Amino acid sequence: MPQINCPHCQAALQIPEEHAGQTASCKFCNEMFRVPSILPDEQHISPQKQRLAQIGVVIIAAIIAAVAFFLFTDGTNSRSTTSTDGSSSPQNQLQENGSSSK
Ligand SMILES: [Zn+2]
Repeated sequence: MPQINCPHCQAALQIPEEHAGQTASCKFCNEMFRVPSILPDEQHISPQKQRLAQIGVVIIAAIIAAVAFFLFTDGTNSRSTTSTDGSSSPQNQLQENGSSSK
């Protein structure tokens, strides 16, 4: 829960987030004061959370892209090997040449 200091007695008060920007009374000195619209605890945590969320989204997107890329390339590779079967003949020629030269 966000914590602020009472402007009257400087006591540390835990303010519910829904009380941000509203008037609250200090439970120590009973003085009324206006709660800041942006509570300090939220200010600190939300950018980190946003960053973590952004990093997580980027990582997940990268993993999905990598998996999709591998699946896609794998499919095209197997297709190309079957379609370009004639490309295996040069390899045979090279092997024959090597064995004949020795
Ligand atoms: Zn107070």
